[in-house]
Amino acid sequence: MFVNLQSHAFAGNPLRFKTPKPHDPLSPALALETLKAQLLDDIHQPFSLNFKVLPYRKGSPLASSTSTDGDLGPKWHLGWITLADCKALFSASGVELTGDSMVYLGSSSEQDVVYWAIDVSGENSLATEFVSKQFCFVELRTLMVATDWADERAMADLAVAGHARALMEWHNISRFCGSCGEKTVPMESGRRKQCSNELCRRKFYPRVDPVVIMLVIDRENDRALLGRQSRFVPRMWSCLAGFLEPGESLEEAVRRETWEETAIEVGEVMYHSSQPWPGITFTTLV
Ligand SMILES: [Zn+2]
Repeated sequence: MFVNLQSHAFAGNPLRFKTPKPHDPLSPALALETLKAQLLDDIHQPFSLNFKVLPYRKGSPLASSTSTDGDLGPKWHLGWITLADCKALFSASGVELTGDSMVYLGSSSEQDVVYWAIDVSGENSLATEFVSKQFCFVELRTLMVATDWADERAMADLAVAGHARALMEWHNISRFCGSCGEKTVPMESGRRKQCSNELCRRKFYPRVDPVVIMLVIDRENDRALLGRQSRFVPRMWSCLAGFLEPGESLEEAVRRETWEETAIEVGEVMYHSSQPWPGITFTTLV
């Protein structure tokens, strides 16, 4: 497998999730109107749009694989399904599908397609409906390892899946207002949330926790400093990493984390690149 160190897994999401014009039918608000009309089988739909839905279960997207010739192993694809199929599967398990339970992922203006994610973890019978001979829920890191990094389309899919996973996770951990404790409700097709308390109405946006990942090197002796956690499989080692603390620069975080973990003092710190990471973190590689 070819690994390009200039491109990173989960980066390069090709979907557009902001539109410059608020009246664009592909915008989150207007796409949601059309989605709700389609769910109700309303013949007077505001716009003609195509919808694709990516179901998630416990942080894992629906995916399918096709076998390939040679030693490359199976090729994985995200399990996008049509809105009609999604509706039928919900109906089969007796769960109501509403527009408010779906999260807007973005649009592709070429074919007027809007992409949505939906979390089906809540009810086992529902999640089971989505699994078939072709589809199963696959952990995102498994997909990352199985993806051919030279395949641009597969890498773009991986970026969309990571973006959706981050939004799903944010929805799960932001159910209540941090100011008054009331429930939060999704707004702008799940792109933000708001406190349901009329006296509070605090707005919440998905945020990320920055992480530094560092490869500490000893130039004189041609060595690199790696670490291992007790949960790692035998012979597995990794770069050191850690969260930024409030009021800390990237370089300071690199020095502090390395010192805390290994008691080794770091000299010059050089920035390499950055990437999103599924969940709610954003990593800087130094
Ligand atoms: Zn509140």
